[in-house]
Amino acid sequence: MHFDALVIGAGFAGLYQLHCLRDRLGLRVRVLEAGGDIGGTWYWNRYPGARCDSESHAYRYFFSRELNDEWQSSERYPGPPEIRAYLNHVAAKFDLRRDIRFGARVTAAHFEDAANRWRIETESGEKCSATYLVTAVGCLSAANVPAIEGLSDFGGKWYHTGEWPHEGVDLAGKRVGQIGTGSTGIQAAPVIAQSAAHLTVFQRTANYSVPARNAPLTPEFNRWVRENYDEIRETTRQTPNGHAFRISRRNVADVTPEERQAIYEAAWETGGLQFRATFRDLLIDKAANDTAADFLKARIRAIVKDPATAEALADINHPYSTKRPPIDTDYFETFNRPNVSLVDLRAEPIERITPKGIRTSNREIELDVIVFATGFDAMTGPLLKMDIRGRAGRALRDAWKAGPETYLGLQVPDFPNLFTVTGPGSPSVLTNMPVAIEQHVEWITDCIGHLRSHGIETIEASPEAARAWGAHVDEAANATLMTHAKHSWYYGANVPGKPRVFMPYAGGLQRYRKICEDIAARGYEGFVMDRGRTATVALTAGDFAGAAASPSPGV
Ligand SMILES: Cc1cc2nc3c(=O)[nH]c(=O)nc-3n(C[C@H](O)[C@H](O)[C@H](O)COP(=O)(O)OP(=O)(O)OC[C@H]3O[C@@H](n4cnc5c(N)ncnc54)[C@H](O)[C@@H]3O)c2cc1C
Repeated sequence: MHFDALVIGAGFAGLYQLHCLRDRLGLRVRVLEAGGDIGGTWYWNRYPGARCDSESHAYRYFFSRELNDEWQSSERYPGPPEIRAYLNHVAAKFDLRRDIRFGARVTAAHFEDAANRWRIETESGEKCSATYLVTAVGCLSAANVPAIEGLSDFGGKWYHTGEWPHEGVDLAGKRVGQIGTGSTGIQAAPVIAQSAAHLTVFQRTANYSVPARNAPLTPEFNRWVRENYDEIRETTRQTPNGHAFRISRRNVADVTPEERQAIYEAAWETGGLQFRATFRDLLIDKAANDTAADFLKARIRAIVKDPATAEALADINHPYSTKRPPIDTDYFETFNRPNVSLVDLRAEPIERITPKGIRTSNREIELDVIVFATGFDAMTGPLLKMDIRGRAGRALRDAWKAGPETYLGLQVPDFPNLFTVTGPGSPSVLTNMPVAIEQHVEWITDCIGHLRSHGIETIEASPEAARAWGAHVDEAANATLMTHAKHSWYYGANVPGKPRVFMPYAGGLQRYRKICEDIAARGYEGFVMDRGRTATVALTAGDFAGAAASPSPGV
């Protein structure tokens, strides 16, 4: 069957892309989704403690005021069931389900030069084709299970948090080992500890965390959200990271040490990702960052009673917020429970998994369940899992051997009419993602609308533009302290063999939006339309003028 457009993925991105292409441009669209329902991240991630770290009034679509008015959030941070309920409401309101196929994992997408069309194949052998292919596969949808020797011999059960069984896992009375202390692990440990007989947390990288301070939302707050829709929407569009709070204009050095302490204490009490917004130079000046890092490390030492455990938890060797900054509910307090212990893998590395549990260099720890809170093959993983081939059969896996190369994170040279929502090289994971997703989806929709109204058959990034953009993405990252955390998943460091390239664009979502708008207004500068018929414009990193880094400090 042939479609105007095929969209892969039915999370926030795929749903809105379907609505835009079908209902605004009038195209024949089909969405292919590997999972059994809509929701993306929130369909798959059902681990204990799973919750969004963006606040409910910002973690939503902003394209429809009516939709905003209709939706009431119940808590400051939405949990997976509430986000799924929200997306179900969206799907029903815009009648989206009829064009989505579930259980349809795309395994291959090949561009046919002669016909200018994409041929797609799913795991079950279903085939179809389309003029435009839009990947809405998410940045964090390819689970990363570390290759630890002996896993197949383990006599207990093991789970990855990103593929948690929908029926839940009964951990009551079980000896649970959790590997990983990133955002997910920090959410999961306190909840697992409540039911497990014993929880052993295996920590390779100590991490900062700020209390989330989740709470029910009052009717007054929900009324405020309805009445201030325009202002909230504008704030998410004007800030570097798409959240509904602004980053302070003051620098750390603008205040006295006493004032600074009071500011950090107030932010700690408020809770949430806003802690990063206390000073504008936290992500660009190491000395400024040290003040926040010292404050947070002191909090860990004050909370955790056992001095050796406190020291291991506070022994953090990256600047604050240069890795994805977690927020938590009683994470550090959990280590005061008698049924929780910490294993510092820097002192005693894992040697292997045994039939009975995990053996470190010092001992064997017996376990019934292993929980891998080890994150994802981020950004490129979901794309490279598919066999995507562009012009002359060129494989994306080959094109990206040394790291992803894109123009604006939206297109790849030699892959015509392929659009990547929140692709590598776009602000994506450094933002409150629905805002970044809306911007990409709307840009792609306008672009396809332009092609159709001008009788243009294909569009693709020019190699020069992609090179220049790549240089600019590096430049933006280098202007922040995020380059101090080379072991982060932003660099792909959690996946052995993955090229170490800083993947997201750290120049700020508001700047990025302007760059994308300007490029479209200049007739899609840097893109080649109907190759062979039009010439391209050569660009250099300097052409993204005015886009010098304005740090965008993580989701
Ligand atoms: C635990 C966790 C917490 C998060 N917290 C936040 C937060 O606090 N704030 C924030 O802004 N973002 C957060 N995120 C990021 C989150 O992914 C985005 O906010 C958002 O859900 C992304 O939507 P999406 O549609 O782009 O991708 P996804 O929601 O990941 O959806 C992609 C879909 O594509 C499907 N898919 C992938 N490959 C294929 C294929 N080959 N064939 C068919 N289907 C395929 C997947 O099954 C999936 O359903 C979090 C992510 C995780 C994992």
